[in-house]
Amino acid sequence: MSRIHKLPDSLANKIAAGEVVQRPESVVKELVENSLDAGATEIAVVVKNAGKSLLYIADNGSGMAEEDARIAFERHATSKITSDEDLDRILTLGFRGEALAAISSVAQVELKTRQEGEELGTLVRVENGVVVEVSKTACDRGTSIAVKNLFFSVPARRKFLKSNATELKHIVETMQRFALAYPEVTFTLSDDDTLLMSVKAGTIEERIRAVYNDEMLNALIALEADGDGVRARGFIGKPNFARKSKTDQYLFLNGRYITSKLLSHAIFTGYEHLLDAQSYPPYIVFLEVDPERVDVNVHPTKSEVKFDDESMIYGLLQAAARRSMSEHNLVPAMRMPQGDTGESVIAALRYALPQYDRAEKFPGPPTRPGPADAPGDGGASAWPPAYGREKPMPTGRAGELMRQLFGEQSAPLPTPSTLPPDAPHPASQLDLATSTPATFRQETRSLDGDVDPVRAGLWQIHNKYILSQLRSGLMIVDQHVAHERILYEQAVRSMQAAMPMSQQLLFPLEMKVTPAEYALMRELRNDITALGFELSIERGDTVFVHGVPHDVGAGQEGAILRELLDQYLEYQQMGMTDQRHMIAASFACRASIKAGDPLSQEEMLNLIENLFATSMPYVCPHGRPIVIRIELSELDRRFGRTS
Ligand code: ADP
Ligand code: MG
Repeated sequence: MSRIHKLPDSLANKIAAGEVVQRPESVVKELVENSLDAGATEIAVVVKNAGKSLLYIADNGSGMAEEDARIAFERHATSKITSDEDLDRILTLGFRGEALAAISSVAQVELKTRQEGEELGTLVRVENGVVVEVSKTACDRGTSIAVKNLFFSVPARRKFLKSNATELKHIVETMQRFALAYPEVTFTLSDDDTLLMSVKAGTIEERIRAVYNDEMLNALIALEADGDGVRARGFIGKPNFARKSKTDQYLFLNGRYITSKLLSHAIFTGYEHLLDAQSYPPYIVFLEVDPERVDVNVHPTKSEVKFDDESMIYGLLQAAARRSMSEHNLVPAMRMPQGDTGESVIAALRYALPQYDRAEKFPGPPTRPGPADAPGDGGASAWPPAYGREKPMPTGRAGELMRQLFGEQSAPLPTPSTLPPDAPHPASQLDLATSTPATFRQETRSLDGDVDPVRAGLWQIHNKYILSQLRSGLMIVDQHVAHERILYEQAVRSMQAAMPMSQQLLFPLEMKVTPAEYALMRELRNDITALGFELSIERGDTVFVHGVPHDVGAGQEGAILRELLDQYLEYQQMGMTDQRHMIAASFACRASIKAGDPLSQEEMLNLIENLFATSMPYVCPHGRPIVIRIELSELDRRFGRTS
C-alpha cells in the first residue's frame, strides 16, 4: 500500500491557516483587505475579548452573488486573478484566494452579503472548514463577516495567543495602518463596546490628525519625489521629533503596508547627520510603483516585498528626504555632486559645518516654563528636564567611594568663613598646576555663589562627558548613562516601596493618546503610578496627568510618559519580560539628561555624587560603561615620561 497520499482539503486548509492566520489581528487584516478590494468606503470592525471570541467586519463594498459567496471559502478561490500574467499586475490587496478558506478552517464563520440591486442577500455559515448553511437573508448592501471562537478547534494555537492587551494592540496597529493608507475610507474599531477608533473619510492631513493629533501633523513635513515609474508622496518627521522606536514609521507600497529595512535606511540617511543612530523619525510615505516591477509574492503576510530595482528607489527616497529637510531649512542647503549621494557628501557636509550645533538650530524652551504656561503636552520635543532640581544627597558610602577615587580634593570644602584665621588656605593643599586659578576663584566664589569648577574638579566636554581628576589619574563619565543609572535605581525603589514620589501639577495635563497607548497605559497603570505618574484614564483617547515623578522637568511630562511607553514596547520586542525593570529602565532612559545638554557645575557635582551613591556606578542598566578611568601611569607612558 502506498504511504504517500493527498491531504484532505480540511487538513490542508488548517495547515495553510498556520501561515495566514497567526492571531486575531491576521483575521482583521485579511478581512479589511477584502473589504477594500471590494471598493468599500465604510468599514466597521468590532471585536470581543480582543478578537478571541468574536471578530466582526462589515463593509459597504460590492458584495457577492450567492454563487460566489458559496465558493469564496474554497481554497484558492479568488476573483482577483485568473491567469499567470495577472500575477505581474496585482493591484488588489488579496490574490491568493486563501484567507477565507484558512480563517473558516479554524473558526466559526458567518458571512452575509448582498450586491447592489438584489433584494435579498446570501448567508453562508462555515464551521471547521465545512459549509453548514447557505440561505437567503435580508441584509445591507455589502458584506459582513463574523468570525467566532478563533482557533476553537486548534487548542494548541489558542494557547499561543497573548494577553488581550497585546492582541488588541496588534489589531489597533493594523487598523491605524489601514486608516493612514486609506484616508478616503471611513473606519471604526471597537472592542467590548469601547470605541477605539473612529475616523471619517477625508484628506490625508485630516486622517493623520484623527489617528494621531495636531502635534503629529506639526511634526511632519512633506516629501515628494518622482522617478522612473516610481512616485513617492507623503510626510517625514522633523529631526527633533524623532523617537526611539519605529512605531510611527509607515511605508505603503501601492496601498499596501510594507516593511523594508533598506527603504527605511534610505529615509534615515536623508537626514544626514541630524539624527542619532538609534533614533527613528516618524514618516508616512506612499510609494506607487508599476506592479510589474514589484513582487509581493514573497511572504504570506505580504509585508515584505521585492523590487526589481531597489537601488533606484533607495536613491529616490534618500534624495527626497534630503530635499524635504533642506527645503524646510533643517539642513543647510548644499549642492549634491551629480550621481554622488554617498558618504563623501555627508563627510563634506560635516566638514562644511564645523560650528554646527543642534542646540542653535532647534532652540528648546529657553527657560523652564512655569506651570501656568506649560504647553498642553511637552510634545515630542527632545529637550531635557533641567537637571539639578534635587539637592545632592551624598551618603556615607558614596562619600567614602568618592574620597577613594578623587582623594580629598572633592570632599566638601570648608568655606573661608568657617576656617580659623590661621588655618592654611585650602588651596595650598592642591598642587601647583591648579593653585592659582583655585585661589582666584576662591575669592570670587562668594560673589556669584557658584561652585568652583576647578576645586570641584569637574569639566564638561562636548556637552556629553564629564572629566575629573582622580587620585590615580583621570576619570571620564558619560553624563547620560550616569543619570540613567541614578534614575533607574530611584524608579525601582519607588516601585518596590509602592510609595510614589510624585510632584503634583498645578494644572492637570490633558493628553490625547492613540488607542495603542491607551491600552498599554491601562496595562501598566499600577507600576506607572508607583513610579510617580498620577493618571486618570478617561475616555478611549484621553488621559489626564495630575502628577509626575520628581525628575520630570516642567513641559516634559507628556513627552516623557509617551517615550516611556515607546521604550517599554521596544524592550518588549527585544524579548524582555520583567515589567518593573522595563518600566524603570524606560523611564530612566527617557527622563535622563542627554548627550548635548550643557550642565552647570552644580549639576555636574550632583550627578557625580548621586552616581556614586548608586549600587552600581560603573555600568548602566543596559550594561554600557558609565565611567572610564585613565591611569596617570598610562598618560606618563604615552607622553614618554619615565619616572
Ligand atoms: P483573495 O482576497 O486572495 O481573493 P479571499 O479568500 O480573501 O481571497 O477571498 C476570496 C474571494 O471572496 C475574493 O476574491 C472576493 O471575490 C470574495 N470576497 C471576499 N471578501 C469580500 C468582501 N468583503 N466583499 C466582496 N467580495 C469579497
Ligand atoms: Mg483576501
